Amino acid sequence: MKNAIIIRYCEIHLKGKNRGFFEKMLKENIKNSLKEFKFTFTTMHSRYLIEDYDPLDYELITAKLHKIAGVHTYSNALVVENEFEKIVEASSILLKDKVGTFKVNTNRADKTFTPNSMETSMLLGGRMLELYGKNISVDVKNPDFTLYVDIREDGKTFVYTDVVNCLSGMPVGSAGKGLLLISGGIDSPVAGYMMCKRGMKLNCLHFHSFPYTGEAAKEKVIELTKKVGEYNGGINLYVVSFTHIQEAIHEHCPEEFMITIMRRFMMRIAERLAIQQGDQAIITGESLGQVASQTIESITSSNSVVTMPMLRPLIAFDKLDIIDIAKKIDTYETSILPYEDCCTVFLPKYPAIKPNLERVKRAESKLDVEGLIEEAFKKVEKYTF
Ligand code: ATP
Ligand code: MG
Repeated sequence: MKNAIIIRYCEIHLKGKNRGFFEKMLKENIKNSLKEFKFTFTTMHSRYLIEDYDPLDYELITAKLHKIAGVHTYSNALVVENEFEKIVEASSILLKDKVGTFKVNTNRADKTFTPNSMETSMLLGGRMLELYGKNISVDVKNPDFTLYVDIREDGKTFVYTDVVNCLSGMPVGSAGKGLLLISGGIDSPVAGYMMCKRGMKLNCLHFHSFPYTGEAAKEKVIELTKKVGEYNGGINLYVVSFTHIQEAIHEHCPEEFMITIMRRFMMRIAERLAIQQGDQAIITGESLGQVASQTIESITSSNSVVTMPMLRPLIAFDKLDIIDIAKKIDTYETSILPYEDCCTVFLPKYPAIKPNLERVKRAESKLDVEGLIEEAFKKVEKYTF
């Protein structure tokens, strides 16, 4: 008898002719994410199997599975030969400490196996009651847990009780590449995680305003980027110096448009960087109406300087819902550490909430937009995690 981890996917089942592409990508992503461990990996009818791993690695392996987009569930199964008594033995191990109601669910792909599925379930249920009748009883309609018996054609039977939910979504890399604008706040790491979950492979871009924002602010962004990277199969972070742009806007443009014009610069730089490295979209953590820079008028103004798709996965999310996800992906505690973001430098007292695009453009015409962008590209730092 040995252990095996059965890994399942979900939405990939809906794919028609392209299914092979998604399956292969998920397989590669799983293997890549587990490359530090030794195990045998096999594909088994829309599922993957991990066997022959060191039992000491079980917790570490399953923790990784929880961060792989496309993995829907996994089970820790016992594997025995297709023999009824062996199945009884495995089941008795799994049910030893269980309390509550249960049912047996048998799936018999090996049609040479006797008894048939229904009889196997009944007989096995009876044997478990003989052993553990003090703690467990049968309820086929609404059981507390299910004993699954999967009798396969290749002579192996998988017996398990737990089906653990994971991320679901689509394999990272199956939905193109995007550039995440990451700040030190709560929202942008969550936005990044959500795009990974939908299969987009991310790069990150952060605007740094040294000396107005210090090393601690950058370290914080690095920490958050690494967390997003855990869902992305590793990640690149580009840090672009933004100070000279902010100073120029501060000096030459009306205060009320400070943020609006800053954001237009961010988008232009993001689009240029994205094109350079083959990213197909820009992603932000914006949420409608959250702050002055996230009204539909402000979004229109920053959107209008780029032609690449701008994706805002949090646009209709309430802050509390975003915080819930941030806690789940373990970015929240880092995000709430005190820090200065470049957006808080030169923050106007009364930012334009509904900036008029024509007035914004007029204000911006005082600046050497192209020159400022070129200067920003002279100081790009790249980190790979
Ligand atoms: P967050 O919690 O993600 O910082 P926020 O609620 O503070 O968002 P803003 O400061 O208006 O909102 O930023 C909106 C979005 O713009 C962010 O989610 C992020 O995608 C991007 N952004 C803001 N500041 C930076 C920065 N310094 N570098 C890169 N992107 C940024
Ligand atoms: Mg912010």
